[in-house]
Amino acid sequence: MSWTPIGKPAPVRENANLTDYAAARRDFSWEAERRGLSGLPGGHGLNIAYEAVDRHARGPRRDHVALRWVDRHDRVTEYTYRELAERSGRFASLLGQLGVRRGDRVFTLLGRVPELYVVVLGALKAGCVVSPLFSAFGPEPVRQRLNLGGAALLVTTPELHRRKVAGIRDSVPSLRHVLVTGDEDGPGTSALSPALAAASPDFEIGPTAPEDPALLHFTSGTTGTPKGALHVHEAVLAHYVTARHALDLRPTDVFWCTADPGWVTGTSYGVIAPLAHGATLVSDEGEFDARRWYSVLAAQRVSVWYTAPTALRMLMRHGADTASGYDLTALRFIASVGEPLNPEAVVWGQEVLGRPVHDNWWQTETGAIMIANFAAEEVRPGSMGRPLPGIEAGLLQRGPDGRALVTDGRVRELTGAGEEGELALRPGWPSMFRDYWGDRERYEKSFSDGWYLTGDIARRDADGYYWFVGRADDVIKSAGHLVGPFEVESALMAHPAVAEAGVVGKPDPVAGELVKAFVTLHEGYPPTEELRLDLLAFGRRALGAVAPKEIAFDQHLPHTRSGKVMRRLLRARELGLPEGDLSTLESVP
Ligand code: ATP
Ligand code: MG
Repeated sequence: MSWTPIGKPAPVRENANLTDYAAARRDFSWEAERRGLSGLPGGHGLNIAYEAVDRHARGPRRDHVALRWVDRHDRVTEYTYRELAERSGRFASLLGQLGVRRGDRVFTLLGRVPELYVVVLGALKAGCVVSPLFSAFGPEPVRQRLNLGGAALLVTTPELHRRKVAGIRDSVPSLRHVLVTGDEDGPGTSALSPALAAASPDFEIGPTAPEDPALLHFTSGTTGTPKGALHVHEAVLAHYVTARHALDLRPTDVFWCTADPGWVTGTSYGVIAPLAHGATLVSDEGEFDARRWYSVLAAQRVSVWYTAPTALRMLMRHGADTASGYDLTALRFIASVGEPLNPEAVVWGQEVLGRPVHDNWWQTETGAIMIANFAAEEVRPGSMGRPLPGIEAGLLQRGPDGRALVTDGRVRELTGAGEEGELALRPGWPSMFRDYWGDRERYEKSFSDGWYLTGDIARRDADGYYWFVGRADDVIKSAGHLVGPFEVESALMAHPAVAEAGVVGKPDPVAGELVKAFVTLHEGYPPTEELRLDLLAFGRRALGAVAPKEIAFDQHLPHTRSGKVMRRLLRARELGLPEGDLSTLESVP
């Protein structure tokens, strides 16, 4: 739980959205925050798409740019709020014509293309449940999720259809329509563009109860088979509030969220939150490339940037020189999510990008950011930050299986500084998942004694900052110590040769488990025996008893498509065990 203060305080203190944390928590109420949203006209409830586009399209922001799309050839196309409202209205009308009804599931299998925004918002207007899939999924994970969710309609591209959908279409009996982007129908598909052109742009959103289902998001599958977390329209209240508090977002911002649209971050913050604020959303069709990303930040004058540790680590591998060629003066706030953010990355942000990286924590199930380092508060490198206003977090004493110990239906909350327990949240925030689709039992099992149990292990310091230790499934039990992989990985990353590390437990007759590290090296560091011994010694000096006993070099650590190191796969490979569900594994180039 050690941290090094970074030279300067976070630079936006004086004009940040949240300047007095204690007061904001004390005075907070979701009911009061609701006044920042409009609600449907005539008191007909709350609809995410109305808050995101229609209300702006009817007000003074109608000609403000909602979406600025950069295609893979760097061409920029802009859509105002009015245009986005109109196009999504057309898609909602089209769904009606096709007989797709409220509550039906509409899936997308799309990269970052304008149609994605039109379809997601249009389907929400029509009261359908939207489920975005990673466009990099192969046919089998696509089939599995379409069937799990009982998809009625899918929107994809002609190419993705040919490669991933055509072959499995017959084994998804619920799927009534497949629409493909562009102008041409194909076998079993209808073209989206002419259908949109023919549909009415004037779509009146029907009455929508805040508890009506809206989004179905599959988890990253880091620890096992992905689960479908169901969210409701009320979630928009949390998207709206958390973006202001944790991302310091304002209506004047140019906001770029790099998350893939197939992951919950790609919807909550890649679509809904910035639009709910009336800000300008940047969407980049291109793949990750250090120079490309810097040039998007510079050319689009991005002011708030939300990204992930794996991307930051890749930028770090490219060195500070690459960054120095770009004008990043518009950048006011940088945040990261999805995986533990190593302290090096926070400091690197401050030194190389001129802003520290603000880590924050949440899950598919929580629907929105729950714990964060705030703009106006001290950033503690290595910490996830403190709970947002409106969010009550706690740490629960753990049992032998590593999860919270439940005795006669009761749990025990840990209150001492530095104690380590399962991170839990008090249910009741608007974007909390309302079900695991088709698995009510599993859903109910995630709650105990008035808490939602997250499956993550954390510590809290005396000032209330939370420190991620590991997923309950990843924590290593070695010679009487419980070792969090993140702590070991971060210690190794402080060595100049180490670009990334994945740490797992390996059964050992004496210690129970021993700590084994897989290490990716920076360019220019050959994987020699000498370096390996140096790293082992480096680890021992930093970590003592919990240092890795074995180190292997691996230039291609397995990642999920949302960018997380898949430690369970490293472990399975090490032990020769079955590899389990690999549908979300990022294919290695
Ligand atoms: P699955 O539940 O299928 O195993 P997953 O948990 O990776 O997959 P997500 O909901 O995408 O699926 O990810 C949420 C998890 O990511 C958190 O529970 C936590 O383990 C990790 N995580 C997210 N943000 C952070 C963070 N800032 N620091 C550390 N870990 C984080
Ligand atoms: Mg999870």
